[in-house]
Amino acid sequence: MCVVCGWWTRSAGIPRRDPAGRSSVCAACAASLRPGGEVRLPSGVLVRSLLEHGGPIRKAVHAMKYRGADRVASGLAPLMVDLLPTGATALVPVPRSLPRRARFGTDPGRALATALARTAGLPVADVLRAPVLHRSQIRSRRRGGLRFRSVSRPPGGAVLVDDVLTTGATLSSAAAACRGAVTAAITLTRSRSGGGGSRLTSDHGSPDTRARNPVHG
Ligand SMILES: [Zn+2]
Repeated sequence: MCVVCGWWTRSAGIPRRDPAGRSSVCAACAASLRPGGEVRLPSGVLVRSLLEHGGPIRKAVHAMKYRGADRVASGLAPLMVDLLPTGATALVPVPRSLPRRARFGTDPGRALATALARTAGLPVADVLRAPVLHRSQIRSRRRGGLRFRSVSRPPGGAVLVDDVLTTGATLSSAAAACRGAVTAAITLTRSRSGGGGSRLTSDHGSPDTRARNPVHG
């Protein structure tokens, strides 16, 4: 089954595994995927994203966030291992706000971090807590990023894990709550103008970050 669109693609041929044999993506989805690249947020946090947020992957992320599609996190998180900076010590999931977690029954950042931890052989440092907000407050707060608190300081070199990089405000807030322990983050996708900071790599990534298209190899 293709981990992006969820189809058994008999008509499109057998889904192709990525070069390391970790996940299967059908030819139609593979042709549409673009690497997410790397940006540095104004807060100084370096963010690497697996894919650009568009086309089939946009629908896949939507399915993960709102319909609890497990295939997306379990199928694509292993590919995020190539985004991890050298010397990463732990994965810190960026938690979803409590009302949204209750409403949709999923926490995408945690699902991705848990699935990635198995591939990366790193511990999950589940130290961040989202604020308890009334549903009506969430939309206005999201623009400025949720204000997180941490129950303990993660180890130095820990890396934030989230589903989508949009403004970067959420990741900057999450990093601030980690009190200096975190300087890097990885996300499954990046919206086209995501991060707002200075773009460090082209759409094709660069060899030293290995932020290339994981499906085309
Ligand atoms: Zn597909």
